[in-house]
Formats: sequence, structure tokens, C-alpha cells
Amino acid sequence: MAYKAMIGLEMHCEFSETNSKVFSSARNSYSVTPNENIVPYDMGFPGVLPVVNKKAVEYALMASLATNCKQPEYMYFERKNYYYPDMPKNYQITQETKPIPVGIYGYVDYECNGEEKRVRINNIHLEEDAASSDHLYDTTVIDYNRAGNPLLELVTEPDFRNGEEAESFLEHMRSVYQYLGVSECDTKKGHIRCDVNVSIIDESLDEEDPSNWGTKVEMKNVNSFGGVRECIKYEIKRQIKAKENGTYDTEVVQETRRWDEETGTTISMRSKVDAVDYKYFVEPNIPKYKITKEWLEQIRSSIPEFAYDRKKRYINEYGLSEYDATILVKEKKNSDFFEETVKLGTNPKEACNWINGMLLSYLNTNMITIDDIFMTPDMLRDLIKMIDEKTISSKQGKDVFTKCLEQKKEPEKIVKDEGMMQITDENKIEEIVNEVLSENSEQAKDYDPSNPKALDYFIGQIMKKTRGKANPSIASKIMKEKLDNMNK
Ligand code: ADP
Ligand code: MG
Repeated sequence: MAYKAMIGLEMHCEFSETNSKVFSSARNSYSVTPNENIVPYDMGFPGVLPVVNKKAVEYALMASLATNCKQPEYMYFERKNYYYPDMPKNYQITQETKPIPVGIYGYVDYECNGEEKRVRINNIHLEEDAASSDHLYDTTVIDYNRAGNPLLELVTEPDFRNGEEAESFLEHMRSVYQYLGVSECDTKKGHIRCDVNVSIIDESLDEEDPSNWGTKVEMKNVNSFGGVRECIKYEIKRQIKAKENGTYDTEVVQETRRWDEETGTTISMRSKVDAVDYKYFVEPNIPKYKITKEWLEQIRSSIPEFAYDRKKRYINEYGLSEYDATILVKEKKNSDFFEETVKLGTNPKEACNWINGMLLSYLNTNMITIDDIFMTPDMLRDLIKMIDEKTISSKQGKDVFTKCLEQKKEPEKIVKDEGMMQITDENKIEEIVNEVLSENSEQAKDYDPSNPKALDYFIGQIMKKTRGKANPSIASKIMKEKLDNMNK
């Protein structure tokens, strides 16, 4: 029998750009020093009260709009009650389905292996993160830096069919969040963590009918995209094998498992049967408030064009290759730099070649971002213009480019100060050609026009005289004419 997989993701994204935590005034920046960014609220001291971070709510609404969700009329928060040292208030402020979270019933289009796919979004909600615990030998230490960080959870419908699709979707969402400017989405800093739900279904059955669905297994807190892909692969294999062995009912049970990167397997953590009742109720310390149409429109207007759409536009309008467009849009900042340069009148293909070539390699080598460099889109435009107008050769252009970044000097100034301007004046070049010919009369006599390399010697002499500044194509043209005439 053939089976296919049904996979749903719960993707948590920590907002890194909100200045403070979601309900407290502590900084929400990443810190390696434990318990540095905390205030009494994060420690759950008696009497502490939450204050909603407006920026976090706006970011959540942005994400809700960007994933084509429906927004609620009123914003509510709810309490999820449980006891665990990483949540010292003994409840987490979050949003469940009642009342409506920040977004419901959306969809996201993304690309997987060049194919367009759509995944339905069940809901998207804003909550506070828990502290992080470290288990050292027989002790557990808790770092409250992360406690209360704004966390956005996006829950998809089980629309993915394999690990690659889930991974592509996560890459897509990382780019969306980065373009929105809500998070750096650095998986190494734990900004993105996923719960992965996997079941299998007999391919001949109707997948719209939930009674046909297989048993769902959840893998909690998978913190790399590759890990998500691999744990899905492993879990699909494990579940199909159990079907084939006739052990499905005992081996595939509703449970939470953990992805073990080292062994490449999933390991049972706890059964879903002991699921706690969280006794949700509306958080009484945060009044409900209206999400006005005006506010929503204002937020909508601040949503930028996403990488996915930019890439399509670069290919269709600017004629860039799929490969180049993909590299350009990967980082919004780089893509913004490109857009700015093109807006200033530069040919898109030329701008792209410089950015994807010299510029990116300089950034990578020096481990810096485009924000850290001296060069601006204006300067790149000037540089490209000087090459196009043959003021400098393209070889000199590369030199100027590097000097601009290293010496923090405008390209035009470099060219001027270093007297790099090419000699393009034909009369001037003819003078030099004549000099070279009279100084090399023997060689000129031996000139063999049928040998394509014979001209090189003479051009070399011209370059020597002009310290490389003679325009090579003009110099070649005049030199060849003269030599051909002499040997007629
Ligand atoms: P839970 O209450 O166990 O968290 P939910 O219904 O809230 O379950 O769904 C959580 C996630 O599990 C969602 O991403 C959803 O798409 C996914 N999911 C639900 N049913 C299945 C299934 N049969 N197979 C795979 N994923 C599923
Ligand atoms: Mg779940």
C-alpha cells in the first residue's frame, strides 16, 4: 500500500527588534550573560503587572496581514496556567482560539524546488517566551533573559507532504520576517523554533476527511531548518515501516517526541494522553482594545514588497537570471541597495553584477554587512558610469571599487587623485603609436598580420608608455591600421 504524509508546523519566531519584552520593560536583546535583561515582571514577583508592547502588537498584526490572515476586531490576551520553573508567574500570557488571536485562516505561497506551493495558515498568535533552562549534572539553572520575549507563533494546516516543503516554507517565512524587520531570525540565537507534526495517510483515501487521518506525532522544539527536514524524513519512514510491520497501533501513538540530531532519530518524550488542562481564561490585567481600520491600514502600508515578489520582478522586468535574482533578494539590505542604484539610473544587470560579485565577496571576506561599508548606491552608480563612458577601464574599475571600500574615498575622487583617466583621445593615441613604431622599427618590419598575437607586443609598448591608461580598443585599432599599411 502507498502512503503519503501530512505535516503541520507550529513555527515560533522571537521578535528581536522590539526594544523591550512583550509585557515588561526589560531589554529583549540577546545576551550571553545570564539574567542580565530582567525586571521583576519576568521573575513573576507578586503584584507584577503586564504592560503591552505596542510595537510587538504592530509587528504581530504585520505578520498577520503578510500571511493573508483575518484580523480580529478586538485584541485580547489569555492566560495559560501551568507550573514550571521556566514560567515563574505560573501562567503564560498568550492567545488561544477564543477570543480570536492576531490572525486566522490565512495562506502563504512559497516555492519548493522551483514549484509554487500554498500552505494554509490556521492561526498566528502573540505570546511571551519562557525562560531557558540548562541542565548541568544534577542541577538545573535558569536564565530569565529570554523570559517574556515577544514570541509569534504561526500554526499551519497539515498541508506539507515532505520535509523539503516544510524546509522551503521556513526559509520563506524567515525572509518574510526579515523583510518586515521584526526579527533577525537567527536560528543560532534561537529566534526560530519549530514544533513539527507528522502523520501518514493511505494515499487512496480522501485527505479532506479527518476520520481518514493517521495518528499525529509531534516533535517539539526543533531549532534548525535542516533538523525539521530530516526529522520529517525519519518520522515518515518510521511510521510507514510500522504500518508494514503491523505494529502501527502500538508504535505510532499520539505523543511528543524529540529530534536527536546526533543519532538522526526521533525519541519519545511524553504521551499526549497526560496533556495538562491549561484552564485558559482572558487575561484580566490587559484590557481588550479595538484594532481600528485606520491602524490596520497604517500597518498594511508599511509592509514592504517581499523577496518572493522582488525576485519575480527582477527576472521579468530587469531580465536578471533566476540565480542572480535569488542571491540579490536573500538579504533585504542588499536588495534595497540594488534598487537604489537602479533608481539612480544604472543598468540593472550591471548593478547586479557588481553587487553579487565584488561587493558580496568583500562583505563575506570581511564578515560585515552592507550597512558597514563606505560605498553608497550613488558611488556605485558613479563607478559604473565611469566604466561605461570609458573614463576608466573595467580592470581599473575593480581597483577603484576596492580602494573606495578600503580607503573610504569616493570613486570619482580616487580616479581624479590617482590620474586614472583613460586616454581615449584618438589624436593623442596616434601620437603614442607613432612613437612606439619609430622606436621599434625592426619589429614593425617583421610584423606578421596573419599572426593574431603579433599585435600584442606593440600594444604592450603603448601600455608601458601610458602606464596602462591608453584605451585598449582604440590603441589596437590605430596600431593595427598603421602596421597593416606599413606592410602592404
Ligand atoms: P495540538 O492540540 O495537538 O497542538 P492542533 O490541532 O492544534 O494540535 O494542531 C497542531 C499542529 O498539528 C498544526 O500545525 C496542525 O496542522 C498539525 N496537525 C493536525 N492534525 C495533523 C495530522 N493528522 N497530521 C499532521 N499534522 C497534523
Ligand atoms: Mg501543538
